[in-house]
Amino acid sequence: MAQVCKEYKKLVEEKVEKPIDEWVEKTVQRCKQRKCKWWCACCNKWFCWLETIFVLVVRWVVVTVLKWVTYVICEVVTFIVNFLATFIGLILSIPILGRLINWIWKLILEIVWTIVGILDIIAGILGIKLPKKLRLCFLILSDKERAMATAESLQKSIESAKQIYKKEANVKIKVSHIETLKDSPDNALDTHCDAGALGDDLWTAGTYFENNSNVHCFDSAFLRLIGYAAPVVVFVVRDVEGKQGCSLGPLVDYVTIEGPDGFCLAHEVGHACSLWHYDDDPDNLMFPSCGGTKLKKWQWIILRRSRHVTYL
Ligand SMILES: [Zn+2]
Repeated sequence: MAQVCKEYKKLVEEKVEKPIDEWVEKTVQRCKQRKCKWWCACCNKWFCWLETIFVLVVRWVVVTVLKWVTYVICEVVTFIVNFLATFIGLILSIPILGRLINWIWKLILEIVWTIVGILDIIAGILGIKLPKKLRLCFLILSDKERAMATAESLQKSIESAKQIYKKEANVKIKVSHIETLKDSPDNALDTHCDAGALGDDLWTAGTYFENNSNVHCFDSAFLRLIGYAAPVVVFVVRDVEGKQGCSLGPLVDYVTIEGPDGFCLAHEVGHACSLWHYDDDPDNLMFPSCGGTKLKKWQWIILRRSRHVTYL
């Protein structure tokens, strides 16, 4: 089920249905307690009950029916657009040519969404940090013997990332999905970083990452295609040569981290949001070795401007 549809349904239930139900409950109590006016055959009580019934009927017809109709339409439409995006993803997953087109497309999206978010950048310069969201979709790779991590083994890194992003940038990290993939190929299990990661992405590892992002983080395939509110897909791998994680920044939507604890999660997600290394302070999140937790003001402005970080 599409997350966006579920969120809409929940919003209607909390903001519309719940207050109406509370009002009905109070009115029922009021009607019961009301003293009967005998001179008009209890007309005041009757009016009170009629008013309650009217609201209940309107609630059912307008709120419940509309809620379900729009919910079903939402599900059908999101399925179709996600399916189409997955199909386009097949083209973008073709080694070299497809991957190069994907890089160019992602760079165009980066520029477009930065321009759209210009007001947010100005607000950031003025020190305004309204709450924003960032979604993560975790795909854990497996070799023949074992999975590289479990949801439990990643929990500490996820909690740490949540705290850092909330405290430093007022960004709420939401885990949209965690799934373990079976029998992953060696070229995706053992990856490289920097120039090696570019090579991996251009070749069959890139194909694997792109297709699995679309199939297993299917709900967000369309959002990833248009770039807005696109989750960062986190692949938990066996080895990142010489490092504990890697990201190609704005060129792709995924990062790789080593299992089982994914220690570099917060740092790599920072790269995915276009932050580069900051060598001057070991406590900084973007210090080359992972473990830092701080962000400079210019860093959280860049982070919050990312197409992955949105108000929705
Ligand atoms: Zn780094």
